[in-house]
Amino acid sequence: MLILRCPYCGLNGEETELSPGGEAHLKRFGPGSDDASFEAYLFLRNNAKGVHFERWRHAYGCGKWFLAARDSATLEVYGTYPAQTSEPPADIFARIADRGRG
Ligand SMILES: [Zn+2]
Repeated sequence: MLILRCPYCGLNGEETELSPGGEAHLKRFGPGSDDASFEAYLFLRNNAKGVHFERWRHAYGCGKWFLAARDSATLEVYGTYPAQTSEPPADIFARIADRGRG
């Protein structure tokens, strides 16, 4: 079971209380950009096995969007942070680097 802490209200939400929003930190390209960039923005996703940065909404809580770093294979959560953050915070990168060091 996946449990994520909402960075806004501080509650731990089980995955049925949350709505997934796909990959986080996508660089947005609008209709005025070249076709390859616009297609990549609309359709191409990493979907790698391992560490993912994702968008989630606390649908049955405060209703706000937030971002989470987790391992898609083990469901280990490295942290959550506000959706307005342009890149993952340094403490989350440190937790990812420390994984498996026990
Ligand atoms: Zn919340």
